[in-house]
Amino acid sequence: MLKYRDWIIDLSTQSYPDTIVLELTTDCNLKCIHCFRNAIWDCSTGAMDKKTFSRLLEEIIKCNVERVVLSGWGEPLLHKEIINCIYELKEARVSSIALNTNGTLLSEYVDSLITYIDEFIISIDAVNKDLYRTIRQGDFSDVLNGIIKLNKYRIRKIMKPALTLLFTANLINIKELINVVKFAKNVGANKLIISNFIPISYETEDKLGILVKHDIPKLYDNIISEIAKLSMGYNILISIASYKPKVERLCPFISNNAVFIRFDGSVSPCLNYAHGWKFVLEGIPRKIHSVTYGNISNNDLDEIWRQYRYTQLRYNLDAGLFPSCLDCPTRKVCRYTLSNEYDCWGNNPTCAHCIFYHRMAICPI
Ligand code: SF4
Ligand code: SF4
Ligand code: SF4
Repeated sequence: MLKYRDWIIDLSTQSYPDTIVLELTTDCNLKCIHCFRNAIWDCSTGAMDKKTFSRLLEEIIKCNVERVVLSGWGEPLLHKEIINCIYELKEARVSSIALNTNGTLLSEYVDSLITYIDEFIISIDAVNKDLYRTIRQGDFSDVLNGIIKLNKYRIRKIMKPALTLLFTANLINIKELINVVKFAKNVGANKLIISNFIPISYETEDKLGILVKHDIPKLYDNIISEIAKLSMGYNILISIASYKPKVERLCPFISNNAVFIRFDGSVSPCLNYAHGWKFVLEGIPRKIHSVTYGNISNNDLDEIWRQYRYTQLRYNLDAGLFPSCLDCPTRKVCRYTLSNEYDCWGNNPTCAHCIFYHRMAICPI
């Protein structure tokens, strides 16, 4: 039970997580310039073992989890038991499984996975091969071949499984966005998510960052009107992150009743707080400490979900009870904002400077 001023708030006994974002591994075959893994400081990396996965299946069945998104701080297709994991999730009666992948291994796996995956979410930051290689250090033709193979299976009329493309905008690829929209149209994508690069150092903010830079709004607005023209008459949902903090904040995890399960079974409120890492915005460095509320190897998922501190975080996010560091006039001198441990309202941990909460980056859930 929570107390807020004269209010006493109780969590419904019917409250369970609806969605699990599952990190099977933190391993990856690419080296994207924007990857959070480049800024991890607490060495919390690895792959989920069989015992932890079996425990997770028990909890998924017990809590009646509806959707699992295979995602996290690594490439899910690199987990050595990936096919069995997906089969077993379907057997556990998960009604929707999404795979968030860099797409480079898709052509190898699509035959085995096509009947089990409801949504493929593929990251594409450029369709120009050289630009793609500069950003992701991989070969765009591998991704293209995977999508071509996937499309042979997709039934165009009902568009199943769904195809979502995820574009992370930075200074060197922002103009490429127009070509990515055309590409999305050509391959019959159902959805295009346009997120923003979160700088992981002073240097990357300077060279690649587009958030809250003074010369960006005009460029952004021009590109957005081009996109609007291009997407007319085409049935695609385009979600665009903002380049500056939004007044209406929304946590993607809390608003979807979602929880993040790390490779080691730790339960975190979201992708952003799953590992310790650092980011920089407007020259302000912020050190993120991982936030976890238990581990499914030792506790039941619903017990963790109902834990006082976790419930309080969800309530505070739903009720907007966090200050907003990203547009606070004292952000350049405030010491609280340098980490997620506390804020000036006494929250611990705090989401006051979360870029996802301020809708400047989008997490596909
Ligand atoms: S594909 Fe994803 S996990 Fe891999 S390096 Fe790129 S951003 Fe990181
Ligand atoms: S607001 Fe941000 S940091 Fe807080 S739980 Fe949501 S995604 Fe995580
Ligand atoms: S912790 Fe409070 S005072 Fe400090 S930057 Fe954030 S909102 Fe401003």
